[in-house]
Amino acid sequence: MATPRARALLIIEDDLPIRRALKNALGDVADRVLEAATGRAGIDLTATERPDLVVLDLGLPDIQGVAVCREIRTWSPVPIVVLSARHSDAEKVQVLNAGADDYVTKPFSTPEFVARVRAVLRRARLAAGENAATIVEAYGLTIDLARRRVERGGSLIRLTPIEWDILRTLVVHAGRTLTHQQIFDAVWGAAAGSPQQYLRVHITNLRRKIEAHADRPELVVTEPGVGYRAELPG
Ligand code: CA
Repeated sequence: MATPRARALLIIEDDLPIRRALKNALGDVADRVLEAATGRAGIDLTATERPDLVVLDLGLPDIQGVAVCREIRTWSPVPIVVLSARHSDAEKVQVLNAGADDYVTKPFSTPEFVARVRAVLRRARLAAGENAATIVEAYGLTIDLARRRVERGGSLIRLTPIEWDILRTLVVHAGRTLTHQQIFDAVWGAAAGSPQQYLRVHITNLRRKIEAHADRPELVVTEPGVGYRAELPG
C-alpha cells in the first residue's frame, strides 16, 4: 500500500550526525524534515510548524525527552516516535504513559526506523478518517466494535464485560503497544490495584476464547515488561 507523503516531520535530537542520518532517511517520507537540537526548540517548532509527526530523542541537553513528550501531549495529538538509547522496559513504559506512540531503541537500522515512522503515520491517518472501521476482521474473527460482538465462523464468542473492554481497547489502538497502566485505566477507570496482575488473568481468559492457539497468540500480543498490543494483519 503506497502511503502519501507527509507534509512535515520534526526530529528533536541533539546529536548532529544522528539527526542528519535520520533526516536523510526520512527524505522520502515527507516534503520537509525540520530539526531541533534541544527540547525547548522542539516544543516551539511543534507549536509553530505543526508537523505531522515528531521523532523525539530521550537524551536531550536541556529537558528530559519524557518531559518534552508530556508537554507536547498537553496541547497536541501529533504522533510521537521516541528514540531510546537504553534498552530499559521501565523507560519504555514511562514514555508510552507520557503519550508517545511508539519507540525505537538505539542502535536501529534505517529501514526499521523508516518503517516504524510510516506505520505510525498510517495509523494516525486511519484514526483521523471519519469512517473508521467499526467491524474488524482478522484471524477468522469478526469483531463488531459498535455492537460489542465477537464471532468466529458465525458463532458468537461470549466475553465478559472486562474481556470485551480489554479487547476493544487494544483493537481500537491496533499496532500500538499499550502499557499495563494504559489498558488498566481504559478498562477499570480509576480503580486501584495491580494492573499487571489483573491484566494477566483476563488476557489469559480472553486469549483462550478468541485466539486459534492461546499459547501462540496472533491478535493479542505481549510486549514483555511493557504491555500488550493488538496485531492486525496487513
Ligand atoms: Ca541525544
